[in-house]
Amino acid sequence: MEKINLFGLTLPELEAELSNLPKFRAKQIAAWIYQRGANSFDAMTDLSKDLRAELAEKFSIELPHLVTQQISDDKLTTKFLLKMSDGAAVETVLMRQDYGNSICISTQVGCNMGCKFCASTLKGLERNLSVSEMLGEIIFVQNFLAAENQKIDTLVIMGTGEPLINFDNLIKMLRLLHGSYTLGLSYRKITISTCGIVPEIYRLIEEDMPVTLSISLHAPTDNLRSAIMPINSAFGLSKVLKAGDDYGKKTGRRVTYEYILLGGVNDTEEHARQLSKILAGQLANVNLIPVNPVSERDFIRPTNKAMKKFFHFLNTHGINATIRREMGAGIDAACGQLRAKNLD
Ligand code: SAH
Repeated sequence: MEKINLFGLTLPELEAELSNLPKFRAKQIAAWIYQRGANSFDAMTDLSKDLRAELAEKFSIELPHLVTQQISDDKLTTKFLLKMSDGAAVETVLMRQDYGNSICISTQVGCNMGCKFCASTLKGLERNLSVSEMLGEIIFVQNFLAAENQKIDTLVIMGTGEPLINFDNLIKMLRLLHGSYTLGLSYRKITISTCGIVPEIYRLIEEDMPVTLSISLHAPTDNLRSAIMPINSAFGLSKVLKAGDDYGKKTGRRVTYEYILLGGVNDTEEHARQLSKILAGQLANVNLIPVNPVSERDFIRPTNKAMKKFFHFLNTHGINATIRREMGAGIDAACGQLRAKNLD
């Protein structure tokens, strides 16, 4: 008989699975797997040996396993390649920022959005990650940090995959993560990054979860955006910008627009002018990111001069822009690079 995986269940779900035990057992087990780093029933030392053996016969606790890890030269970024129980591998990144420990998780195994600059999409989509697997990425890193007496402070959902395509699992996982029997992570400490799946942005508004929304824009015209992001043919700029504006208005949360600077492609003053026009009046930030060149793609970094000019243009034309601090260059930092290398 196949064992039932308890990891990733909510407290009511755990109570239902363990309904032949006193109710407090579910809470106790939740604390062990979500807060106290247990990855087996054997580790649960306040349960009797008999009960541990009984549980282990029927249930499992499936956490991802570490395949390999890379640490940046400045030691601030650690990239983990984690293996799920079916062998699928995903990337999870820990970034030690001035404001705390930030973790970036994947939501899918591969991706089929087809963005031209991205390594994650090179081999297409294998499947969505489950609630258990996404939470597993987070608890894995939490357990890693616990060994240093540290914890996770913020979560960005910006790794491999399109989070809003895996909407139901993602929302369930975030609600679980918010629970006091797991990390109790505030929604305000969570950022979801999307390439602009418009209907799901409206569903997210309905969830009434004050997470930060980050929209990957990357181009100020439909022509250019469609050339580098195929999703733009389904949801064009005006729809994406309207959804972003509505998200800001309904949630009161400032939306971030990500804009990768691709040398010679979207980094001229004319592009900056167009961008400032389409964002005029929005409660928004622009996060400029110099492209992380991926060997299979032929985009190049913008010059420092072009980057500064672009940044300056936006900030002097009513748009609040920042340049993303690059972390982890030299450790296959672009989304999906480590995984892609491991697949070869
Ligand atoms: N699918 C979601 C989340 C994953 S991508 C999204 O599109 O937002 C997370 C961010 O990394 C996106 O802004 C994406 O455009 C960016 N990104 C992808 N490849 C990159 C590269 N080679 N260099 C810099 N940023 C990249």
